[in-house]
Amino acid sequence: MTSSSVASPNFGDLALLPAVLSAVETLGYQTPSPIQMETIPALLEGRDMLGQAQTGTGKTAAFALPLLSRLELTRREPQVLVMAPTRELAQQVAVSFSRYGQNLQGLEVATLCGGQEYREQLGALRRGAQVVVGTPGRIIDHLDRGSLKLDGLSALVLDEADEMLRMGFIDDVKRVVADTPKEAQRVFFSATLPAEIERIVNRYLVDPVKVAIESRTTTGENIEQHLVRVDGGAKLEALSRILEVEPVDGAIVFVRTRAACTTLTEQLSARGLNVASLSGDLDQSLRERTIQRLKRGKVDVLIATDVAARGLDVPRITHVFNYDLPQDSEAYTHRIGRTGRAGRTGTSITFVGFREGRKVGWIEQATGQKMSEMAVPDEAVIRAHRDEAFHQKVIAALTAGAEEQQALVERLVGEGYDPVELACAFARLARADEAPIGRLQAPRKERAPRDAKPGRGPRDRAPSEGMTRYRVAVGHKDGVKPGQLVGALANEGGIEGARIGRIDIRNAFSVVELPSSLPSSILAKMARARVAGRPLEISEDRGTPERAPRRRNDDGQAPIRRQSRA
Ligand code: ADP
Ligand code: MG
Repeated sequence: MTSSSVASPNFGDLALLPAVLSAVETLGYQTPSPIQMETIPALLEGRDMLGQAQTGTGKTAAFALPLLSRLELTRREPQVLVMAPTRELAQQVAVSFSRYGQNLQGLEVATLCGGQEYREQLGALRRGAQVVVGTPGRIIDHLDRGSLKLDGLSALVLDEADEMLRMGFIDDVKRVVADTPKEAQRVFFSATLPAEIERIVNRYLVDPVKVAIESRTTTGENIEQHLVRVDGGAKLEALSRILEVEPVDGAIVFVRTRAACTTLTEQLSARGLNVASLSGDLDQSLRERTIQRLKRGKVDVLIATDVAARGLDVPRITHVFNYDLPQDSEAYTHRIGRTGRAGRTGTSITFVGFREGRKVGWIEQATGQKMSEMAVPDEAVIRAHRDEAFHQKVIAALTAGAEEQQALVERLVGEGYDPVELACAFARLARADEAPIGRLQAPRKERAPRDAKPGRGPRDRAPSEGMTRYRVAVGHKDGVKPGQLVGALANEGGIEGARIGRIDIRNAFSVVELPSSLPSSILAKMARARVAGRPLEISEDRGTPERAPRRRNDDGQAPIRRQSRA
């Protein structure tokens, strides 16, 4: 780290363009982060760079501020090209460039990501975007079409280079790096330095400045890290309880596999939580909409796999759960870095099975921080918490006044009932919808009943009360999973996932229960949703049988049915 005088470092000392500096002030950044202190001067000089720093250390501004300061705004061709491994990351970087460049007259930022219309991208390029941010696939696409030219490039940035390689973009990366003009600046950021990156660096970077920021001093200091000892079958109940009592605004729950993502999303939404999943199962536009919903507070709990949530920057995430332990300490750091963004504090809660204790040791060693043990809230804690919440509600109702209830209450009192007993009865009625507290033991595995005979699948029962069955035009043959359907229907229709009922995936189609009260305008919106590349074409299910119902889905598990909460 740069040793400096007692006064904390200042953006004003960094020779940034005044228009860029004023944007930084508008955004309320007080002092540059360590990586920004180290990289900005060298990047302003046009040096090549290899930066190694963990997530959440402010890398985007570290390259965006100096590169924006060096743009020739009147030269209307790509001057800065940033490659990022996922569409979400690319989009975040593009938004950051626009923000940091908000006072630069004539700045145009083009975002080139897969899953998006070409028209808009071509438009931005034709208008002479000076900054281009994208994912490798689509960037190569535009290079092949001739719509993206690198001749005028003055800087190429690889963000999350190691992740890019891990995702198999090595050839795309090599090609773009090789196509970049010799005199252009090359800037790589990476959390780790695998040999492959070292090779590209040695081959293509000229006398690079190497900056490494110790992860220990930059990660997790503002994150309270807990561990909870809980084993497989009890995890769901433990998670529900903790979510209930912790002061959670937004949460990300990490699981190991896509299948686990789907299952847990189902389970939590059945418990009435506003939950969505973010895994590679969803197509890009759905993933992006899911993140928007999380940002806007339409979704509070996101169930995610590592790759899908990499780099996610949503300030309202107060809690990160490691429902399944991460692969390694690096993944751990990335995961918990989703909370405590931008100087906030955050909480991480790691579930550790009874045979996983040793793994905690290596995580703690790598982060240099100890996790403190946290107990799963017991029933008494949950009840006390609910009492407290109800207490607040009652006080609020008292303050707001409830005169319209007075005649009724006076009548009951007049009939001779004791006021305290009456109040108890009211409280009980008012709290009737509180969820029962589950048991903290491994629940029995849910299976299709063994005696289920062909012709007696879920579809042959009556739909749940208040629900109507609809048929959607995707099924096993399209590889569709229940979570995808929930995600698509909830996103398109703008309804909570919890309102979607049983899902029965058949081979050529699926049957979904939706509230009978849904207006046709919402159904029309849902019908336009695409899953597995196909429109859903919702229609009411009249129960044309498709021979025997499938007993197992593609994962070899029993079909997941959504529990309706009675
Ligand atoms: P990284 O790429 O290293 O994971 P980001 O560039 O996404 O980190 O920045 C993380 C968060 O910190 C963002 O919300 C960003 O707005 C904020 N941030 C970056 N630099 C500063 C700074 N100097 N002061 C305050 N907040 C900052
Ligand atoms: Mg980043």
